[in-house]
Amino acid sequence: MKKIEELKILVIGGGPVGLSAALFLSHKGIKPRIVEKLTEVNKYSRALAINPRTLELFDKINAVAEFIKDSYRVNAANFFIGSRLVINNFEVVNHKFPFISVQPQYVSERALSELLNQRGITIEKGVIVKEVSTTNELVKCELQASDGRTESLVFDYIFCADGAHSAIRKSLGLKFNGSTYNSPLFLCDVTFKTNLNPNDFYLFFPKSQPVFFIRIERDSWRIIGTDPEILDNLPKGHEIQNVLWQSNFVINNRIIEKFRFGNVFFGGDAAHVHSPAGGRGMNLGIEDAFVFAELLAENRLNEYDKLRKNAVKKTLSKIDMITKVILGENFFYRI
Ligand SMILES: Cc1cc2nc3c(=O)[nH]c(=O)nc-3n(C[C@H](O)[C@H](O)[C@H](O)COP(=O)(O)OP(=O)(O)OC[C@H]3O[C@@H](n4cnc5c(N)ncnc54)[C@H](O)[C@@H]3O)c2cc1C
Repeated sequence: MKKIEELKILVIGGGPVGLSAALFLSHKGIKPRIVEKLTEVNKYSRALAINPRTLELFDKINAVAEFIKDSYRVNAANFFIGSRLVINNFEVVNHKFPFISVQPQYVSERALSELLNQRGITIEKGVIVKEVSTTNELVKCELQASDGRTESLVFDYIFCADGAHSAIRKSLGLKFNGSTYNSPLFLCDVTFKTNLNPNDFYLFFPKSQPVFFIRIERDSWRIIGTDPEILDNLPKGHEIQNVLWQSNFVINNRIIEKFRFGNVFFGGDAAHVHSPAGGRGMNLGIEDAFVFAELLAENRLNEYDKLRKNAVKKTLSKIDMITKVILGENFFYRI
């Protein structure tokens, strides 16, 4: 049997989950290759919230301070149901990190890339994994660089974090079981005049449609809701100055059929997607990456599929309930 430092491992995807996997592996003495098909940084804010559990995982490898050095802390979530305010103050939580850290996803990715560089690992950008096939105990794969050159290589293990539209998941014929919600979400990143506390989250229900506010960084805020005219129907006291990004998306609640196929292991959005309610997407994926590195080091990778399937299913079912309540799609619980 090979020693852990002799294992040849490929991480596919330089999003937050792939980067975290490479970092957790490096802490175990492994130097994986990590490839990312894009050459440019994705400039959209996307995942903002980093939860206490994720901070705990980075703390275990002494990387928490560096990871959140450019973030701010959210201390409370304020829910307005009509004019009734329900405050959820995180500071009362009994945890080493009793707060949510907020930074745009590109800041998280930058911090993780810097941590990898410090450990001698460089992300190979502009390299796309074209094909993966598993044979016996090994995985064969074909990589293509941006200049068209191809390499056929063999790895002991692949950690696949190539995102929600994972071409590898599809090429291996793995199902992505679940469903899509009826209501799309509308998202705007803006600067605006507001009296909201910049260090809190807010959820309002003006005209019974949910509107969620979270500050991104400096004076920019994210607004999410189900109303297509969301910016025209904000709660009183908000005056939009600049719209930085606008998007809308349908929400899926899906989980991969198997987290492991031969020696290919799936994590992050490639393995599960769900609504942004609860801000768990990136966090849950980072947990996959951590568990993969731990099990590999303990020679227990045969437990990965079961452990992640159970944990992710539980989280998805909680998020599904919260989402249906917020969207008014739950017959029994409507706000
Ligand atoms: C608007 C929005 C808001 C969100 N808010 C939150 C939030 O507050 N909190 C939260 O936890 N999550 C949030 N999420 C979800 C979060 O963005 C995702 O869960 C997260 O990006 C998943 O990370 P990942 O690394 O699994 O996948 P991705 O970030 O999608 O990264 C996958 C990477 O793989 C690369 N790739 C794909 N195919 C190949 C290939 N064949 N070869 C090489 N590279 C490849 C892609 O270029 C990409 O960079 C939000 C998402 C959106 C869209």
